Amino acid sequence: MATAIVTGASRGIGAAIARELAAHGHDVAVNCAGSLERAEAVAAECREKGVRAQAMAWDVSDFAACQAAVKEIKEALGVPTILVNNAGITADGLLMRMKEEQFDKVLRVNLKGTFNMMQACSALMVRAKTGRIINLSSVAGVMGNAGQVNYAASKAGVIGMTKSAAKELGVRGITVNAIAPGFIATDMTDALPAEVREKAEKQIALGRFGRPEEIAALAGFLASDAAGYITGQVIVADGGLG
Ligand code: NAP
Repeated sequence: MATAIVTGASRGIGAAIARELAAHGHDVAVNCAGSLERAEAVAAECREKGVRAQAMAWDVSDFAACQAAVKEIKEALGVPTILVNNAGITADGLLMRMKEEQFDKVLRVNLKGTFNMMQACSALMVRAKTGRIINLSSVAGVMGNAGQVNYAASKAGVIGMTKSAAKELGVRGITVNAIAPGFIATDMTDALPAEVREKAEKQIALGRFGRPEEIAALAGFLASDAAGYITGQVIVADGGLG
């Protein structure tokens, strides 16, 4: 069994992925930005499944903090050979009204954060001759979404990085894939106005928002030996929205 890092795992999709990987027998580093108590509760749930798990707060947009965190995880839990880049934020607004800072901060967390973590882990995975990197993109990065120029750019960027890293690292036995969820019921979508949620539900073939566990099951599969010949892919899980 492996050591996994799941960023943004204090709640929502990341918490479900941490629990799923623990259920598969992997030790898990449970990252969050600031809500360490919630991350600790998720780590405790993972430990109940018989694995080691540690909650840790660091900002994925901080390159040096990512390097330091990965070093600490390596010492505490072993070489991380599963990395799930899940931490993400939104700061929605129409293009004409979007502030520079609104654009920059979403790109810093969603896109640069994913780079920072892949950069910190890839050399360790190369040395271990194995690795699974799973990046959370979004249907917004595939199709675009009004009011999300910043978010869609970050998530499209994640797809480009995923495909490029897959080409660099494949020969080293490392797979790199992206998951592009549609609307999943988490704090992120709870923040949407009711009329936006209702309109979205009507456009989803399955007629409902997804559950974090439905994305976690896919991440669990991509992290498993069974997914060993899948790399450079973007797997859409949107209930038929597209
Ligand atoms: P969420 O409920 O809002 O949770 C976000 C998580 O990211 C939290 O654990 C948060 O930690 C962490 N985080 C935020 N900024 C961070 C930073 N700078 N450094 C480290 N951690 C940070 O999000 P979610 O809905 O589960 O989404 C998870 C991922 O899926 C995101 O990448 C999102 O873009 C993507 N996604 C979500 C949906 C959806 O419908 N929900 C759809 C498509 C894609 P704290 O608790 O400490 O703040």
